[in-house]
Amino acid sequence: MFSGIKIPATGSVKNDADTTGRSLLEFRINLYGATTKLRYDNVCATCEKREGKRKGTPSLVDFKTASDMISPKDGKIRLDFVFCCYPRHHGLGDDEYM
Ligand SMILES: [Zn+2]
Repeated sequence: MFSGIKIPATGSVKNDADTTGRSLLEFRINLYGATTKLRYDNVCATCEKREGKRKGTPSLVDFKTASDMISPKDGKIRLDFVFCCYPRHHGLGDDEYM
């Protein structure tokens, strides 16, 4: 039985939780281009300049949570996040959607 999920400690995640002895699921979001189907792992150079001023490695998705460990409330896990960069920024042919 899992007691929650562990998310990547992106720039807006305030605390590294003590996960000792906890059984957690690892949560990841992978971003793919709608046109090219390429997987993007890093922000573009422009967004890196902006995001690089904050702590940690700039990531494509920034989680807006107090901790990198999220426990269920009323049987649900709720996660807020923002996109920090978009596939079309990379100029590799992803012009669909954003
Ligand atoms: Zn970008």
